Amino acid sequence: MIKRGEWHLRTPGPTPVPKRVQQAMMQPMVDHRSPQFSQLFLETSHRLRPIFGTKQDVLIITGSGTSALEAAVVNLTQPDDDVAVVVTGAFGERFAEICSTYGRRVHRLDIPWGQAASPLQLRTFLRERSPLAAVFMTHCETSTGVLNPIAEMAAVVRDESEALVIVDAVSSAGGTPLHMDQWGVDMIVSGSQKALMCPPGLAFVTASERAYEKMRQLKQKPFYLNLLNYKEEAAKGTTPATPAVSLIYGLQEALNIIEEEGLNQVFERHMWLKKMTRAAVTAAGLPLLTTEEDASPTVTAITETPSFQPEAFRKTARETYGLILAGGQKKLKGRLVRFGHMGACSFFELIQSLFLFEMTLKATGHPVPPGTMVQAAEEVLS
Ligand SMILES: *Cc1c(COP(=O)(O)O)cnc(C)c1O
Repeated sequence: MIKRGEWHLRTPGPTPVPKRVQQAMMQPMVDHRSPQFSQLFLETSHRLRPIFGTKQDVLIITGSGTSALEAAVVNLTQPDDDVAVVVTGAFGERFAEICSTYGRRVHRLDIPWGQAASPLQLRTFLRERSPLAAVFMTHCETSTGVLNPIAEMAAVVRDESEALVIVDAVSSAGGTPLHMDQWGVDMIVSGSQKALMCPPGLAFVTASERAYEKMRQLKQKPFYLNLLNYKEEAAKGTTPATPAVSLIYGLQEALNIIEEEGLNQVFERHMWLKKMTRAAVTAAGLPLLTTEEDASPTVTAITETPSFQPEAFRKTARETYGLILAGGQKKLKGRLVRFGHMGACSFFELIQSLFLFEMTLKATGHPVPPGTMVQAAEEVLS
């Protein structure tokens, strides 16, 4: 049916790595204490700033996105601190788990999975709970395809408390705008394998002056994830331990690709990809988990129906059509298909994936007239 060995990776991370990025990673190894590396490091770190909307350094950690989530917890809070976590899905839950692993007293604001957090509700929640050391929130909740209104949420926290505002932007950085400085956010963490088109393995952290002040005050500092060390070494163009040099070469090329398209155009493309995907899914008669208003530009969640069984669907999509999709996580396990459209995803590539999606629907007992999804997506563009 499809060309053998041709895969269409439409998971919400990892995402397809462009050939140019792959090739850039084949450059000869350099010593991470050399002038060549310092130049590469300072340049890439600097060019990441607009993606996070900050004038601060963007620190680069060798680790998956979760290492940056953990870095946020251990660098900005201490045992017995009261912290709040806005939980809109599995990744909010992960922040809460990291906090309780380290003995922080966790106050959860639980939002029904599939909905965005409400700033109004956050305000009431905070009034009942101050003082808190930090409030953790997720920008794109990848497990549900929701984009939380971070600007408004951060403003509410600033208004109601002295708590630091910490944002997980693993699946939003590079796919939708972030304005850390303007929003009054104290830390944004992210990773390389989602909208930033790189393989897994790098994590990014950027922090406000207020956050660095807090880090200096903390008595118990972590070792590998000590962000003050990363900041100090970054000034010299290097990292405390050996970095994933090849991945940074890849990142440099990914930034070239982003800059060639233009960051605003990249964001705009993601917005269209979301609209096209949602229109196609709706045209196929399948239910979306989120409303248009709450939906993320980077990932779309589609819910089960009697004729659309997520796990059977994903199996056929993968085995027969080479289309790789994600399922539901935690309490949504088996109940969702998650379709990633972030990073290296052109309109044409999306159309190809929608065609394969539609073929899979036919093969799994939810047939739609040929071209239904492709047509709906195409109509969005015209
Ligand atoms: C993918 C993801 C993570 C975890 O990243 P890993 O690289 O798997 O550790 C955390 N938060 C969000 C929102 C994500 O999408």
